[in-house]
Amino acid sequence: MTALAWVIAVVALAVAAIAIVALRRSREVVEVAPAVEQPAIGPEVDALSAAFDALPMTAVLVGPASEVDRINPAALRAFPFLRTGVGVLEAFGDHMLASRVRDALASGEDDDFELKLFVEGRRTFRVQVVPFVVDGARGAVMTLQDATQAVAYQDLRSQFVANVSHELRTPLTGLRGMLEALEDPDLPPDMRADFVSRSRFETERLEALIDDILFLSELEAAQGDPSGERSDMGAVAHGVVDELQGEAAEQGVRLEVDAHDGLWTALTDRMAHTVVRNLAENAVRYAGTGSIATVRVQRAGADVQVEVQDDGLGIPEKDVPHVFERFYRADPSRSRRLGGTGLGLSIVKHIAERLGGSASVTSREGFGTIVTVTIPAARPPVTDVPGDAGMGSGARLRW
Ligand code: ADP
Repeated sequence: MTALAWVIAVVALAVAAIAIVALRRSREVVEVAPAVEQPAIGPEVDALSAAFDALPMTAVLVGPASEVDRINPAALRAFPFLRTGVGVLEAFGDHMLASRVRDALASGEDDDFELKLFVEGRRTFRVQVVPFVVDGARGAVMTLQDATQAVAYQDLRSQFVANVSHELRTPLTGLRGMLEALEDPDLPPDMRADFVSRSRFETERLEALIDDILFLSELEAAQGDPSGERSDMGAVAHGVVDELQGEAAEQGVRLEVDAHDGLWTALTDRMAHTVVRNLAENAVRYAGTGSIATVRVQRAGADVQVEVQDDGLGIPEKDVPHVFERFYRADPSRSRRLGGTGLGLSIVKHIAERLGGSASVTSREGFGTIVTVTIPAARPPVTDVPGDAGMGSGARLRW
């Protein structure tokens, strides 16, 4: 939850508590007050009632015997089965919630905790219980805020940190072992040369991993479109295929390109290059010797479609739905051996979705793979501005 959301929640809670205390007081006053005084009290009660009803989170007024006295409309929207006049246990069907409310009423101390409830599936709520006393009787205001997304995001972050640590540890452990071996003056020269080259490979893998993690976090931090940027996906495809010809030859894969220039998107050069390169590199790495891989860029309605197709080994059916997840590899040892970070496709998907596009994969083991990325087409850059080095040149590399 952001700081602003916390402030809003605290202010809302304070308003609720004040509203309810005042509401109860004024109700009692209304009951005992002579009729002539009612008009002066009425508007205040109305305003406080309205304030309670307007609270954006589920707000419940609990009476001294832990019964639900009053609920606001947000509560009914979130919990359509809620009703007044029953105990908290009956109202929410949760023993932990009922006992925490009872304890707060008994002790007079605020409580704040997370709770999982079954409402349209299992959802996590942040519950705050604030007891108050009016004329010797204790009541409490209880608010529930749906924290399912925040908790899921937190879990994802923790998982990501654990994965990153694991991914960093593996090459580091290898490096350390090899450095220790290299300290041995009696190490045969051929083994020494092998360890040095493997150490270099592990260092490069670490570099690639750190670059990918940083890029991913830059992508997450950046908001909205990288407006004003333009990249010609056709030209980028030709460039990437040229770059990868050496690696394709090493892997025994024929890499072809089917694209013409002038297929513009609002990606930065780095993003465009990353999208095409990650897809083409995967085809080169995983299709297998004797395969043909084609990088195709074409217009598809209002979009530009980048499609990399190979007739190689394909992806096992059980892995296909997961390949866009961070650090997911269908063939971990092959990926690591060839310098893969497990982040390539998740970065591609992130980039495409940031511009309102999408990424998908179709694959069949033994038949091949097609990865398709769709990105909204953009108007070509304005080229008639004299001295505008930013259009179509490398001068606007930002990411
Ligand atoms: P990596 O760095 O491991 O390549 P990616 O996110 O780019 O990570 O890809 C995830 C996994 O998807 C790869 O490890 C690989 O197992 C599988 N994969 C991706 N593209 C292909 C392809 N063209 N053919 C077969 N498997 C592929």
